[in-house]
Amino acid sequence: MPRPVPTPPEDAQARRDVPPVICYPTDSLQPADLMRYARFRDAATPVARHLVPAREGGAFRVPAGGFFRITCVEGPQVGDLNLFNAANPVERFYSGKTRALHGSHLSLGERMWSGFPFLRPMATMVADTLGWYGRDAFGGRVHDVIGTRCDPYTHWHLSGGEMYHHCCHSNLTRALAAEGVAGSVSEAETLVHDVLNVFMCTGFTEETGQYFMKASPVRPGDYVEFFAEIDLLGVLSACPGGDCGAEHSSDSAACHPLQVDVFETPAAALGDWTPPPVNGYDRSHGR
Ligand SMILES: [Zn+2]
Repeated sequence: MPRPVPTPPEDAQARRDVPPVICYPTDSLQPADLMRYARFRDAATPVARHLVPAREGGAFRVPAGGFFRITCVEGPQVGDLNLFNAANPVERFYSGKTRALHGSHLSLGERMWSGFPFLRPMATMVADTLGWYGRDAFGGRVHDVIGTRCDPYTHWHLSGGEMYHHCCHSNLTRALAAEGVAGSVSEAETLVHDVLNVFMCTGFTEETGQYFMKASPVRPGDYVEFFAEIDLLGVLSACPGGDCGAEHSSDSAACHPLQVDVFETPAAALGDWTPPPVNGYDRSHGR
Protein backbone atom coordinates (compact mmCIF):
# COMPACT_ATOMS: atom_id res chain seq x y z
CA MET A 1 0.00 0.00 0.00
CA PRO A 2 1.53 3.35 -1.01
CA ARG A 3 1.48 5.81 1.85
CA PRO A 4 -0.74 8.88 1.42
CA VAL A 5 1.05 12.19 0.84
CA PRO A 6 1.26 13.93 4.23
CA THR A 7 -0.87 17.03 4.72
CA PRO A 8 1.34 20.08 4.13
CA PRO A 9 1.88 22.31 7.17
CA GLU A 10 0.41 25.81 7.11
CA ASP A 11 3.74 27.40 6.33
CA ALA A 12 4.62 24.87 3.60
CA GLN A 13 5.03 27.52 0.93
CA ALA A 14 7.11 29.76 3.15
CA ARG A 15 9.43 26.82 3.83
CA ARG A 16 9.73 26.08 0.12
CA ASP A 17 10.45 29.73 -0.63
CA VAL A 18 13.65 29.82 1.44
CA PRO A 19 16.40 30.67 -1.08
CA PRO A 20 19.21 28.13 -1.55
CA VAL A 21 22.82 28.80 -0.65
CA ILE A 22 25.83 27.24 -2.36
CA CYS A 23 27.15 24.42 -0.17
CA TYR A 24 30.80 24.93 -1.03
CA PRO A 25 31.56 28.43 -2.32
CA THR A 26 34.88 28.15 -4.13
CA ASP A 27 35.82 31.86 -3.97
CA SER A 28 38.57 31.14 -1.45
CA LEU A 29 40.24 28.53 -3.69
CA GLN A 30 43.22 29.53 -5.76
CA PRO A 31 41.80 29.77 -9.31
CA ALA A 32 43.56 27.76 -12.02
CA ASP A 33 46.14 29.98 -13.71
CA LEU A 34 45.17 29.09 -17.28
CA MET A 35 47.61 31.60 -18.78
CA ARG A 36 50.48 29.92 -16.97
CA TYR A 37 49.28 26.47 -18.04
CA ALA A 38 49.10 27.74 -21.63
CA ARG A 39 52.77 28.74 -21.43
CA PHE A 40 53.63 25.24 -20.17
CA ARG A 41 51.57 23.74 -22.99
CA ASP A 42 53.49 25.77 -25.59
CA ALA A 43 56.73 24.25 -24.31
CA ALA A 44 55.36 20.70 -23.92
CA THR A 45 56.18 17.92 -26.36
CA PRO A 46 54.21 14.76 -27.19
CA VAL A 47 55.65 11.67 -25.49
CA ALA A 48 53.02 8.95 -25.92
CA ARG A 49 49.86 8.07 -27.83
CA HIS A 50 47.41 5.37 -26.73
CA LEU A 51 44.38 4.04 -28.55
CA VAL A 52 41.72 2.68 -26.24
CA PRO A 53 39.74 0.15 -28.33
CA ALA A 54 35.95 0.21 -28.42
CA ARG A 55 34.38 -1.55 -25.38
CA GLU A 56 37.83 -1.85 -23.78
CA GLY A 57 39.96 0.04 -21.29
CA GLY A 58 43.47 1.42 -21.50
CA ALA A 59 46.01 2.93 -19.11
CA PHE A 60 48.35 5.91 -19.53
CA ARG A 61 50.84 7.78 -17.36
CA VAL A 62 51.36 11.55 -17.25
CA PRO A 63 54.23 13.28 -15.43
CA ALA A 64 53.33 16.17 -13.13
CA GLY A 65 53.38 19.39 -15.11
CA GLY A 66 52.45 17.54 -18.31
CA PHE A 67 49.16 17.24 -20.13
CA PHE A 68 46.83 14.55 -21.44
CA ARG A 69 44.33 14.93 -24.23
CA ILE A 70 41.40 12.58 -24.87
CA THR A 71 40.24 12.72 -28.50
CA CYS A 72 37.19 11.32 -30.25
CA VAL A 73 38.68 9.72 -33.35
CA GLU A 74 36.22 7.63 -35.37
CA GLY A 75 32.71 8.38 -34.19
CA PRO A 76 30.75 9.75 -31.23
CA GLN A 77 32.03 7.98 -28.14
CA VAL A 78 31.85 8.46 -24.39
CA GLY A 79 34.81 7.72 -22.12
CA ASP A 80 34.86 6.80 -18.43
CA LEU A 81 37.97 8.17 -16.74
CA ASN A 82 39.70 7.08 -13.51
CA LEU A 83 42.76 8.92 -12.16
CA PHE A 84 45.33 7.73 -9.63
CA ASN A 85 48.43 9.19 -8.05
CA ALA A 86 51.00 7.21 -10.10
CA ALA A 87 53.12 6.65 -6.97
CA ASN A 88 50.24 5.66 -4.68
CA PRO A 89 46.99 4.26 -6.14
CA VAL A 90 45.25 4.78 -2.79
CA GLU A 91 45.08 8.45 -3.78
CA ARG A 92 42.45 8.54 -6.49
CA PHE A 93 39.84 10.76 -8.05
CA TYR A 94 36.86 11.71 -5.85
CA SER A 95 33.95 12.47 -8.15
CA GLY A 96 31.52 13.23 -5.30
CA LYS A 97 33.59 16.05 -3.79
CA THR A 98 34.55 17.31 -7.24
CA ARG A 99 30.80 17.57 -7.96
CA ALA A 100 30.17 19.31 -4.63
CA LEU A 101 32.87 21.87 -5.42
CA HIS A 102 32.39 22.52 -9.14
CA GLY A 103 28.88 21.30 -9.98
CA SER A 104 27.48 18.33 -11.85
CA HIS A 105 29.60 18.78 -15.00
CA LEU A 106 33.21 19.92 -15.39
CA SER A 107 34.32 22.80 -17.56
CA LEU A 108 37.43 24.84 -18.34
CA GLY A 109 39.63 25.69 -15.34
CA GLU A 110 37.89 23.20 -13.04
CA ARG A 111 39.77 20.47 -11.21
CA MET A 112 39.55 16.76 -10.67
CA TRP A 113 40.12 16.37 -6.88
CA SER A 114 41.55 13.38 -5.03
CA GLY A 115 39.83 11.75 -2.04
CA PHE A 116 40.52 11.95 1.69
CA PRO A 117 42.93 12.40 3.32
CA PHE A 118 44.70 13.86 0.29
CA LEU A 119 41.98 16.12 -1.17
CA ARG A 120 44.03 18.15 -3.62
CA PRO A 121 43.80 18.91 -7.34
CA MET A 122 44.95 15.97 -9.49
CA ALA A 123 44.19 17.48 -12.89
CA THR A 124 42.78 20.72 -14.30
CA MET A 125 40.76 21.03 -17.50
CA VAL A 126 42.64 23.34 -19.86
CA ALA A 127 40.91 22.79 -23.22
CA ASP A 128 37.49 21.53 -24.33
CA THR A 129 36.21 21.69 -27.89
CA LEU A 130 32.70 20.98 -26.54
CA GLY A 131 32.87 24.12 -24.39
CA TRP A 132 30.22 25.66 -26.68
CA TYR A 133 27.54 23.13 -25.60
CA GLY A 134 26.52 24.72 -22.31
CA ARG A 135 23.11 23.59 -21.04
CA ASP A 136 20.50 22.25 -23.46
CA ALA A 137 16.68 22.49 -23.25
CA PHE A 138 16.52 19.21 -21.30
CA GLY A 139 19.04 20.38 -18.71
CA GLY A 140 21.78 18.24 -20.28
CA ARG A 141 25.46 19.19 -20.13
CA VAL A 142 28.69 17.37 -21.02
CA HIS A 143 31.51 15.82 -18.94
CA ASP A 144 29.55 14.82 -15.83
CA VAL A 145 30.69 13.81 -12.39
CA ILE A 146 27.24 12.44 -11.54
CA GLY A 147 27.24 9.00 -13.09
CA THR A 148 29.26 6.30 -11.46
CA ARG A 149 30.31 4.07 -14.41
CA CYS A 150 28.29 1.33 -16.06
CA ASP A 151 28.89 -1.93 -14.23
CA PRO A 152 27.98 -5.61 -14.45
CA TYR A 153 26.41 -5.70 -10.99
CA THR A 154 23.68 -3.12 -11.65
CA HIS A 155 23.23 -4.73 -15.07
CA TRP A 156 22.77 -8.12 -13.42
CA HIS A 157 19.93 -6.72 -11.31
CA LEU A 158 18.21 -4.79 -14.09
CA SER A 159 18.54 -7.47 -16.79
CA GLY A 160 17.32 -10.42 -14.75
CA GLY A 161 20.69 -12.03 -14.27
CA GLU A 162 22.65 -11.38 -17.49
CA MET A 163 26.45 -11.58 -17.47
CA TYR A 164 28.04 -8.73 -19.42
CA HIS A 165 31.82 -8.29 -19.24
CA HIS A 166 32.50 -5.04 -21.13
CA CYS A 167 30.89 -2.46 -18.84
CA CYS A 168 33.22 0.45 -18.03
CA HIS A 169 33.74 -0.95 -14.53
CA SER A 170 35.12 -4.20 -15.98
CA ASN A 171 37.11 -2.43 -18.72
CA LEU A 172 38.75 -0.18 -16.11
CA THR A 173 39.41 -3.17 -13.85
CA ARG A 174 41.13 -5.21 -16.60
CA ALA A 175 43.18 -2.20 -17.77
CA LEU A 176 44.33 -1.44 -14.24
CA ALA A 177 45.25 -5.08 -13.58
CA ALA A 178 47.20 -5.19 -16.86
CA GLU A 179 49.15 -2.13 -15.71
CA GLY A 180 50.46 -4.18 -12.78
CA VAL A 181 49.16 -1.81 -10.12
CA ALA A 182 47.30 -4.58 -8.30
CA GLY A 183 48.17 -8.22 -7.86
CA SER A 184 44.99 -9.55 -9.42
CA VAL A 185 41.85 -8.55 -11.28
CA SER A 186 39.82 -8.73 -8.06
CA GLU A 187 42.36 -6.53 -6.25
CA ALA A 188 42.36 -4.05 -9.14
CA GLU A 189 38.57 -3.93 -8.95
CA THR A 190 38.72 -2.49 -5.43
CA LEU A 191 40.74 0.48 -6.74
CA VAL A 192 38.33 1.38 -9.55
CA HIS A 193 36.19 4.36 -8.58
CA ASP A 194 33.45 6.69 -9.76
CA VAL A 195 34.45 8.40 -12.97
CA LEU A 196 34.52 11.59 -14.94
CA ASN A 197 32.18 10.83 -17.86
CA VAL A 198 34.18 12.36 -20.70
CA PHE A 199 32.00 13.65 -23.59
CA MET A 200 28.85 12.16 -22.01
CA CYS A 201 25.72 14.35 -22.13
CA THR A 202 23.62 13.94 -19.01
CA GLY A 203 21.34 15.62 -16.51
CA PHE A 204 18.44 14.95 -14.17
CA THR A 205 14.79 14.75 -15.25
CA GLU A 206 12.69 17.54 -13.79
CA GLU A 207 9.78 15.31 -12.72
CA THR A 208 11.51 12.38 -11.07
CA GLY A 209 15.06 13.64 -10.65
CA GLN A 210 16.33 10.56 -12.48
CA TYR A 211 19.74 10.53 -14.09
CA PHE A 212 19.35 10.76 -17.87
CA MET A 213 21.72 10.47 -20.79
CA LYS A 214 21.36 11.50 -24.41
CA ALA A 215 23.45 11.12 -27.54
CA SER A 216 26.78 12.87 -26.98
CA PRO A 217 27.38 15.93 -29.19
CA VAL A 218 31.03 14.83 -29.59
CA ARG A 219 32.34 14.29 -33.12
CA PRO A 220 35.67 13.01 -34.50
CA GLY A 221 38.35 15.61 -33.83
CA ASP A 222 36.77 16.87 -30.62
CA TYR A 223 38.95 16.65 -27.53
CA VAL A 224 39.26 17.56 -23.89
CA GLU A 225 42.64 18.26 -22.35
CA PHE A 226 43.92 18.29 -18.76
CA PHE A 227 47.00 19.59 -16.98
CA ALA A 228 48.51 16.96 -14.65
CA GLU A 229 48.91 18.56 -11.21
CA ILE A 230 50.68 15.44 -9.87
CA ASP A 231 52.23 12.32 -11.45
CA LEU A 232 49.19 10.52 -12.81
CA LEU A 233 48.13 7.05 -13.79
CA GLY A 234 44.97 7.37 -15.87
CA VAL A 235 42.64 4.57 -16.91
CA LEU A 236 40.03 5.19 -19.59
CA SER A 237 37.18 3.00 -20.82
CA ALA A 238 35.49 3.43 -24.21
CA CYS A 239 31.95 2.88 -22.88
CA PRO A 240 29.95 0.05 -24.48
CA GLY A 241 27.14 2.62 -24.76
CA GLY A 242 29.06 4.39 -27.58
CA ASP A 243 27.55 7.89 -27.70
CA CYS A 244 25.20 6.79 -24.87
CA GLY A 245 22.18 7.85 -26.93
CA ALA A 246 20.22 4.65 -26.32
CA GLU A 247 21.64 2.14 -23.86
CA HIS A 248 24.79 0.87 -22.28
CA SER A 249 25.93 -2.46 -20.83
CA SER A 250 25.43 -4.29 -24.13
CA ASP A 251 27.04 -4.81 -27.53
CA SER A 252 24.18 -3.20 -29.45
CA ALA A 253 25.38 0.44 -29.59
CA ALA A 254 27.85 1.67 -32.23
CA CYS A 255 31.10 1.93 -30.35
CA HIS A 256 34.40 3.60 -31.24
CA PRO A 257 37.94 3.88 -29.88
CA LEU A 258 39.27 6.90 -28.00
CA GLN A 259 42.76 8.34 -28.36
CA VAL A 260 44.87 9.57 -25.46
CA ASP A 261 47.90 11.78 -26.12
CA VAL A 262 50.40 12.57 -23.39
CA PHE A 263 52.60 15.67 -23.37
CA GLU A 264 55.59 16.37 -21.16
CA THR A 265 56.66 19.87 -20.11
CA PRO A 266 60.44 20.41 -19.76
CA ALA A 267 61.58 21.27 -16.23
CA ALA A 268 63.06 24.53 -17.52
CA ALA A 269 59.63 25.64 -18.73
CA LEU A 270 57.95 24.64 -15.44
CA GLY A 271 60.37 26.88 -13.53
CA ASP A 272 59.33 27.17 -9.88
CA TRP A 273 56.00 25.39 -10.38
CA THR A 274 55.49 22.48 -7.99
CA PRO A 275 52.63 19.98 -7.56
CA PRO A 276 50.06 21.00 -4.94
CA PRO A 277 50.87 19.49 -1.52
CA VAL A 278 48.53 16.96 0.06
CA ASN A 279 45.81 18.41 2.23
CA GLY A 280 46.97 20.36 5.30
CA TYR A 281 44.34 19.10 7.76
CA ASP A 282 46.19 17.51 10.72
CA ARG A 283 44.02 14.35 10.74
CA SER A 284 43.65 14.40 14.52
CA HIS A 285 39.86 14.62 14.13
CA GLY A 286 39.80 16.49 17.41
CA ARG A 287 41.16 13.64 19.55
ZN1 LIG B 1 30.13 2.84 -19.54
